[in-house]
Amino acid sequence: MRERFQALAAIGKTPGGGVTRLAFSPAALQAHRLAARWMEEAGLRVRDDAAGNLIGRREGTGPAIVIGSHLDTVPDGGAFDGALGVVAGLEVVQRLVEEKRGDASPLEIVAHADEEGSHHAGTFGSRAMLGEVGEEDLLGHQPGREPLAAVMRGAGLEPTRIGQARRERTGLRAYFELHIEQGPVLESLGIPVGIVTSIVGIDQYLVRVPGQARHAGTTPVAARDDALVKAARAIQVIREFLLMRPADLIGNVGSVSVSPGAMNVVPAEAILSVEFRSARASSLDEAGNWLVSLVAEHPGATVRRTLREHGCPMSAELTALLESVARSLGIATHQMPSGAGHDAQVWGRHVPAAMLFVPSRGGISHSPEEWTDWEDVIPGADVLLNAVAALATAD
Ligand SMILES: [Zn+2]
Repeated sequence: MRERFQALAAIGKTPGGGVTRLAFSPAALQAHRLAARWMEEAGLRVRDDAAGNLIGRREGTGPAIVIGSHLDTVPDGGAFDGALGVVAGLEVVQRLVEEKRGDASPLEIVAHADEEGSHHAGTFGSRAMLGEVGEEDLLGHQPGREPLAAVMRGAGLEPTRIGQARRERTGLRAYFELHIEQGPVLESLGIPVGIVTSIVGIDQYLVRVPGQARHAGTTPVAARDDALVKAARAIQVIREFLLMRPADLIGNVGSVSVSPGAMNVVPAEAILSVEFRSARASSLDEAGNWLVSLVAEHPGATVRRTLREHGCPMSAELTALLESVARSLGIATHQMPSGAGHDAQVWGRHVPAAMLFVPSRGGISHSPEEWTDWEDVIPGADVLLNAVAALATAD
């Protein structure tokens, strides 16, 4: 498991020790191919679906127990986010196959495509599998980049066939995911395993602020309609709004694209990405309505929601199973919500789903400094192994 983790970490490695494997990029496809080879070596039936998800399956009777995570990363991200869950899941399935444990239920390991939403919106692969992806998603794109559909074609996928990725719920028993916490809670408590109670909801918006392109040498500053200056003010106002809010809402302006984007031209357009997160749908609605009213104050400005990812409670049945397995192994656990989005929340809307966290050093993630000591990986992987075995046997 550790060797596999290190082999994945080497794919898309950046000079600063981080990893860049944007979904559908050559590096991400290379990681998928390597994982596919391991799945085949483990005796699994391997396939890529129409969304670019990689699936390895051990047959059985009844609905499948699925273990998943993702192999794509953010730009210059860490080696652990996603990849750890894939190697842990593969290890679990391989062990159960080799030891002929839990051989009643079909077992699957899934490496989801574009969990990070590098091309349009996050958790793309899992949403495609659960039938939540529409044409809007395929035509969507990040500011200044190619639409997702074009990126998929570049990776050899046919976006019009996306519907084929959809799975029948009757064939799915449960979903498990092991992931790094990406926050400081477990480390500060000195507890090796987090059991996720619920996953936060996420709304993402693109705000377009118009201005007028002018010669920057001949147009007096006071006479300009400068899109970037207006956008900068809006960013300040969004921050002040978030600072006034109770702790259940958090948000971020994470990218700005300016056009034409030249030193000597007054900016004619600025596009901001705005994200809100909360476990409460009402807080997300409130924030969205507030953003719409803010944008309405700027003539010509527009706002468009690009993602609505509902928050999701994890399955009480599976959470209790993880707790009892951890107790029987003598592993301390801490129940906690997840402020980061994960494929598990998409699955959890359709199928009983559960999630395990392992500690992140310093709470750092989406950074080359992302780190989890290997001794901290093992307890989580052990809980995953024994919970999946117990469920596969019980069924
Ligand atoms: Zn992740």
